Amino acid sequence: MSIFIEKPPEKLIDEDGTRIDGRKPDEMRPVRIEVGILENADGSAYIEWGGNRILAAVYGPRELHPKHLAQPDKAVLRCRYNMAPFSTSTRKKPGPDRRSIELSKVIREALEPSLFLHEFPGTTIDVFVEVLRSDAGTRVAGTTAASVALADAGIPMRGLVSACTVGRVGDVLVLDVGHEEDQWGDADLALSMLVDYNEITLLQMDGTLTPQQLKQAIGMAMDACKKIHELQKQAIREKYLKIVREIAGETST
Ligand code: UDP
Repeated sequence: MSIFIEKPPEKLIDEDGTRIDGRKPDEMRPVRIEVGILENADGSAYIEWGGNRILAAVYGPRELHPKHLAQPDKAVLRCRYNMAPFSTSTRKKPGPDRRSIELSKVIREALEPSLFLHEFPGTTIDVFVEVLRSDAGTRVAGTTAASVALADAGIPMRGLVSACTVGRVGDVLVLDVGHEEDQWGDADLALSMLVDYNEITLLQMDGTLTPQQLKQAIGMAMDACKKIHELQKQAIREKYLKIVREIAGETST
C-alpha cells in the first residue's frame, strides 16, 4: 500500500539480516493482551502488538434481528472490523470500505471453526474489532484479540485462535511483517490457527513465494502462533487471578 509512505526506503533489510525496524528476521514485535476491559460488552480484549492498538468486543449469544437472518440449527457469527479515522497516518474516511468488509469476513472465517455455534440455534454472536492505531498486521492482531474476547464472553469453544504474519524481503523470510515491509516487501502471508489442534483456520497471501519458502513461512507463522497462544492464555489467567485477589482482599485498589 504505497500511498502511505511516499518513497520506498533505501533498503528494508541489512546484509547482516537486521530489518528496517531493528528486528532480526525471526523476531516478533512486542505483544501485550488485556482481557475484560469493557464493562458493557459480554466479553472484551485489548491488544497492543507493535504499534497496533486494537479493541475487541463480543455480544451474545443474543436474539438476531432481522429474524429472517437467523439459522435454525446454529448461531450466526457476525464480525465487524473497523479502523478509526485517527488510526492511520492519513485520516481514514469513517465507515465501511472494501478493505474493512473483506477483513470482517476474513476474521469471521478465521474464528468460526473454533466455536460451538450449534449450541445456540436462532441467535447471533457479534464480534467488533476496533482498530485505534494501525501498524500492519491488524487482521492477525484483531483475530487474536477477538478470540480472547469470545473466551471472555464465555462462548463455548474448541480452543483459542492465534494468528501471525510472515513476509518476504528479497530472499529473507521475516516474521510479523512491519509497516514498511507490508508496503514495500515482496510477499506477505497471514495465518491463523487453533494451536490445540494444529489446525489452520486462515491462510492468505500477497506476492510470491517459492514452494520451499511457502513451507518455511507457514512453519514460522505456526511457531509464532504457539507463542501468541501462550500470551492469550496468560492474559485470561491474569483476569481471573485479579478477581480472585480482589475477592481475597489482597489488592489495594
Ligand atoms: N493502512 C492505512 N490505511 C488504510 C489501510 C491500511 O494506513 O486505509 C495501513 C495500516 O497500518 C495497516 C497496514 O496499512 O495495518 C496494512 O494493511 P493491510 O491491508 O495489509 O492489512 P493488515 O496488515 O493491517 O492486516
